[in-house]
Amino acid sequence: MSKRKKKIKKSFKGILVIILLFLIGVGALFIYNKFFASDSAAVSSEVEKLMKEENIDSTKYSETLEYVLLNNIYDEKYLDEYADIEYIDNDNFASILTTFLPKGYSGKEINYITKLSDKNIDKLSELDYVDISNYYSFKNFDVLKLDRYNAYYEDNEYTYEDVITYVNIGMDLPVYTDTTEVSDPDSLLVLVNKYHYLPDGYEPTDLAYLDGYYGNSVPMREIIVEPFKELQAAALEEIDVEFMPTTAYRGYSFQKTLYDNYVASDGVSEADTYSARPGYSEHQTGLSIDLKNTALGSGIRLTDDDYDWLSNNAYRFGFIIRFPEDKTYITGYQFENWHIRYVGKDMAKIIYEQDLTLEEYIDLYETQY
Ligand SMILES: [Zn+2]
Repeated sequence: MSKRKKKIKKSFKGILVIILLFLIGVGALFIYNKFFASDSAAVSSEVEKLMKEENIDSTKYSETLEYVLLNNIYDEKYLDEYADIEYIDNDNFASILTTFLPKGYSGKEINYITKLSDKNIDKLSELDYVDISNYYSFKNFDVLKLDRYNAYYEDNEYTYEDVITYVNIGMDLPVYTDTTEVSDPDSLLVLVNKYHYLPDGYEPTDLAYLDGYYGNSVPMREIIVEPFKELQAAALEEIDVEFMPTTAYRGYSFQKTLYDNYVASDGVSEADTYSARPGYSEHQTGLSIDLKNTALGSGIRLTDDDYDWLSNNAYRFGFIIRFPEDKTYITGYQFENWHIRYVGKDMAKIIYEQDLTLEEYIDLYETQY
């Protein structure tokens, strides 16, 4: 055997020995943890002593029991509940226990509470006992709406998950009653609907103009001009259709004229199904565009094929169909195949892929509860 080969063989042996030692070490650590460490750490002599002082049977031991004993918040009334409560390493664990056990929450319910957001825990701490078991696991659950969730669940045939979203959106309340002023009207995700109105006199500061179907100049937010041109080019290229805007941004007074005219001819309740009240129109944000296929006559904006393409491709350019046919109960508006709304590509993709409305998207992905 050459010297070189010997050398290689030697170092190979060396590596084997190192691997073997490593495995023995890992094995020993595993055995130690499994059979010795947990026990000795779990019931330290101090905890053992405290348990004896309180006359607690050793079978009652749990991490939560240890925690309350060591933190001086043990109360014998809750001995059985402690066993059900999963210990969490969190600063507010003690206050959750001392706040909610006296309110009558069981150990299992305490586990629900520890999973809530800090905001929800604060809200819940202000209330007497309430049953949150049907709702706590949904991230858009809002403790303060519990009564509304329960009532809406009783009156409808939705799942608890949908009930939360729908009530958060406001669907359990009559439109145009409990309304809120939009706080960020320039945001690309601004939500304007029958529950949210724009601040008095709002007008986007970055209006730009595009050629419109009627030979008019159509104002819209500058940020949506390029994405819209891309959408137009893609429609021409892919389905040989020319989409042009009829209107996009509409100011408050223009919307008021429109709405008042509709009310005069159809009455309020009918007008409300297809026209927004002034201040409540998404067109006032400058982020929506009404489209028309230029090859069609005056009575029709899009064909079914046009809509099929639009509804499956608008998201590629950051737009969504704002008032889809199967979501009128959420949007509060009749189906408008021609009305698109810019939200940006990332959001549009999620909204498209998950078949959401803007209302649902904002509640599920943007609002912090
Ligand atoms: Zn529109």
